Formats: sequence, structure tokens, C-alpha cells
Amino acid sequence: MSPIIESADVVVIGGGPGGSTTATLLAKRGHRVVLLEKETFPRYQIGESLLPSTVHGIGRILGVTEELEKASFMVKRGGSFRWGTNPVPWNFLFAVAPELSGPTSYAYQVERMKFDDILLRNAAKNGVDVRENSPVTEVVSDDERVRGVRYTGPDGVEHEIRATFVVDASGNRSRVHQNVGGERLYSDFFQNIALFGYFEGGKRLPAPDSGNILCAAFDEGWMWYIPLSDTLTSVGAVISREHAAKLQGDQEQALLGFVDRCEIVKGFLSEATRVTEGTYGEIRTRKDYSYTNSTFHRPGMVLVGDAACFIDPVFSTGVHLATYAGLLAARSINSVLAGDVTEERAFGEFEGRYRREYRVFYEFLSAFYDMQSNEESYFWKARKVTNFNATDLEAFVSLVGGVHSGEQAFTNADQLVGDFRESSGALADAVERTGSMETETGDKMHHLFGTPVVQEVMTEMNNVQVRGVLGEAARELPLLADGLVPSADGLAWRETA
Ligand SMILES: Cc1cc2nc3c(=O)[nH]c(=O)nc-3n(C[C@H](O)[C@H](O)[C@H](O)COP(=O)(O)OP(=O)(O)OC[C@H]3O[C@@H](n4cnc5c(N)ncnc54)[C@H](O)[C@@H]3O)c2cc1C
Repeated sequence: MSPIIESADVVVIGGGPGGSTTATLLAKRGHRVVLLEKETFPRYQIGESLLPSTVHGIGRILGVTEELEKASFMVKRGGSFRWGTNPVPWNFLFAVAPELSGPTSYAYQVERMKFDDILLRNAAKNGVDVRENSPVTEVVSDDERVRGVRYTGPDGVEHEIRATFVVDASGNRSRVHQNVGGERLYSDFFQNIALFGYFEGGKRLPAPDSGNILCAAFDEGWMWYIPLSDTLTSVGAVISREHAAKLQGDQEQALLGFVDRCEIVKGFLSEATRVTEGTYGEIRTRKDYSYTNSTFHRPGMVLVGDAACFIDPVFSTGVHLATYAGLLAARSINSVLAGDVTEERAFGEFEGRYRREYRVFYEFLSAFYDMQSNEESYFWKARKVTNFNATDLEAFVSLVGGVHSGEQAFTNADQLVGDFRESSGALADAVERTGSMETETGDKMHHLFGTPVVQEVMTEMNNVQVRGVLGEAARELPLLADGLVPSADGLAWRETA
């Protein structure tokens, strides 16, 4: 039987934060948008610790700030770390940018079932045609461009939607991204495995840090401890692949074993019980989740969120990158549909900004992981793996930068080595120094925030937040050489005058 054929301006695949953000910001400009989601929401997802740019930047642009407030998510003022060679746990706070410290210097710890549902329902409220239980089975294209998708509706009937643009926001386990061409390049450095579950009755850090994410290093890797409510805690172990054998067999015992070897988390869970029923009753694993695709778009199609790239979760960057990419993709598509900018220029801006954001996080996280290094140094391991005729540091940077695998975004190896040497040293030095600096409002802040790499990591997140808070009053300079800037409403691109 031939499929039922419809048309739309844009089809978005996937109703996670990346897909909902893109779809809503397209619908706000009056376009006909169909969002196809495989599952019926609310559905489980990992990735519970958010950043302020998502809550106060993207959240405001989407118009969900009040709803997020009403959902009573745990307020996260920053993170608490037992990391590096410094045995003393230390905090970092979001109250870093003087113009934003105060009312917007916090984020939330969220149950993703609730958070993603709020974003998806908001998309529908803004005019997106949301269709759940509707998996996309095929991307329709010809030699020139992508033309639409086929999907199976809840009735089991095959449908086809023809559209000017297809946005793939279907996450890291879907294969739809392959339709954009290129290849998925897995990080040789962040080859970690995560094992996680949920506990009732875990202890909390003292106020006002009780909502902080706690990240604690231990011999095999590090653990996250995320307070989702006064009583429910998400607990996960991120371990390097060489310890994978420890996950064979009983996964509950493996998780409890990691807890037992991570002093600080063990203490926090001493009176807690593991949740064993319902959505949170399962022990889950995820692996191979750090990668970037060699291309993020082709004519008629663009990748957003985990469909495009993802890095290790230690600094809770996944939802930020997915929603930021959603904003960039929506700006590009809105500009092309309005006839203001060519597709090539609009998506060049999209990919340039997106890769820049990914790269600064990658560099930051690589430096941050390096602080864990001991005689089994990552640099040394990198040289062993690559067999690279260079110093350990150069081999390491070439490896994490993807230079040896031909990743276009990391072609200037010398520059990267220099940047990395500087940022890694500055970060390590900052973490070594206990004690704290103070923000203008008197909040205590870790020295980590004084380092140049952190400033760079924060720049674009702050732009997104300023855009959310100030709306049309926000003034942005081009981020890329000869690049575009956001339109007054922030939903499209324009040339600089
Ligand atoms: C161990 C671990 C811990 C993490 N911790 C954090 C954290 O603390 N903070 C953070 O910000 N991020 C974290 N992340 C990352 C975070 O989970 C992701 O980056 C984020 O969910 C990406 O959002 P997305 O919208 O791109 O994809 P998703 O949230 O995965 O949404 C994709 C959607 O597409 C749907 N879909 C898939 N295939 C199809 C199809 N064929 N047709 C239609 N629909 C389809 C799926 O059902 C899903 O709803 C973590 C990741 C891991 C692995």
C-alpha cells in the first residue's frame, strides 16, 4: 500500500530537548512544523543536571521559565567536587558572570521525564504538530537534497511527509544521522562506560549547596550524585573502558561495589535504599557516548543534539549543547525560509558556532580529566595508543582533538597543543589552590573560575542567557570571523551592518 503523503515546512525527528527547542522556535516564526517522536511521553532519559544557560536562556526564549519554576525541580547553584590530587572537596558556583550573578545564577536538577514533557507540550502550545508513537523509518532524498521522511503512525500505517527541511534530533542511539553523510568519529580519549541507578534517603550537602551535583573521583573513574528531590538521588559511576570487565554479571553488585570504593558517596548513601521498582528501579548502562559527526548538515537536513555530537557528562553539557544547537538550527532554517540568507551561509554559521561550543567544552573536559592523571598518565597512554612520534602532550592533544582521525574542526594541532598546555596547567593550578574567591554579590567561588578556559567555556553560554533575560535589548557581536549575528527577536540570522 502506498503511504499517506502530506507536506510541511519542517519535520523534526525526536521530541527530546534538542527537537522540542528547534520545533518551537520554528513555529514561533509561523512555519508549519511536524515533530515525530518514537515514544509516548513522558519517557525516561538520563541527563538530569542542567546548566543556567538552558534554564534562563533557552527556557526564557521558549517561554517555559514559569512552568519550570512551578515544577519544583531541585535548585542547583553549582557543583561540588572531590577531584584531582586535592583531597579536599571544593565547590564551584554559577554566580560567575557579574551581570548574571544574583537572580539567574542557578539551574535545576530535573527528572527528565518531567522536564522533556514540559518542553514537548510547550512545542504543541506554540503550534507544532506533535505526533508521538510515530517512529521515523526512512529519510527521503534525491541527489540534490533531503525531501522528507517516512514514519509509521500509531495506527501502524506508513506515512510520508515532504518538507523543505528535516531536523534529526533523534538522540545517540538512532541511526537517522547517517542520512546526512560523513561518519561518526568516536573519541579515543573519552572511552568511558556509565552505570547508574536511583536511591531513596541519601544525605544532602549542607545548605545552600544541598542541590549541587556532587562529582567524586575514585580509583576506577568518578561518580555523580544528583539530588532530584529531597529524598530521590540519581547515582552513577563513570569508569574507563579498561575496567569494563567489572560490569560483567550482576550490575547491582557492580554499582554497589563502586559506591563502596568511593568514600564520599558511600558516606552519603549510608542510610539510603536503592529504588528497585518502577521507572527508577532499573540499573542502566551507557557506553560509546562521546563522539562527533564529521558533518552536521547537508542540503535539506541538519543534525541537532546527541544526533550530532556529545561529550562526557562530567560538566552536564549534554542538554545545553542540544538546546543550543536547537536555537542555532532554528535561526538558520528561519533565515533560509524567509529568503534572508542562503542555505550554505546559514548552515555554515550553524556548524561553525556549534563546533566551536563543542570544541571549548572538549578542551576544558580533557584538561579537567587530566587533573586525575597519575603515573598512568593519559598523555602517556595517548602516545601508546597513537604510536605518535611526538611528546606525550602532543600525542594526547592530537588524539583528543581528533587530528589523527582527520576531524576537520581540529586541524591546527600546534595551536591546540598550546591552548591545552595553558588551560590544563591553569586548571590544575586553580584546583590545587583551596580557599575561594568572592563574587561581587559576596558568593564564595572556586579559583577554577579565574582560568581562561573557563571564561571561554562561559562566553557563549552567557550570550544565550543574556538573550533570554534581555530579549530584543541583547546586542551580540559576530562570534565567527565574517559571521552572522542574531536578528532582533533572536530567532534568525542577519548580516552585520
Ligand atoms: C551517562 C550519561 C549522563 C549524562 N548526564 C547528563 C547531565 O547530567 N546533564 C546533561 O545536560 N546531559 C547529560 N547527558 C547527556 C544527555 O542525556 C543528552 O545530551 C540529551 O538527552 C540530548 O538531548 P537530545 O534532544 O539530543 O536527545 P534525546 O534526549 O535522546 O531525545 C531524542 C528523542 O528522539 C526519539 N527518537 C529516537 N529515534 C527516533 C525515530 N526513529 N523517530 C522518532 N523519534 C525518535 C527518542 O525517543 C527521544 O525521545 C548524559 C548522558 C549520559 C550518557
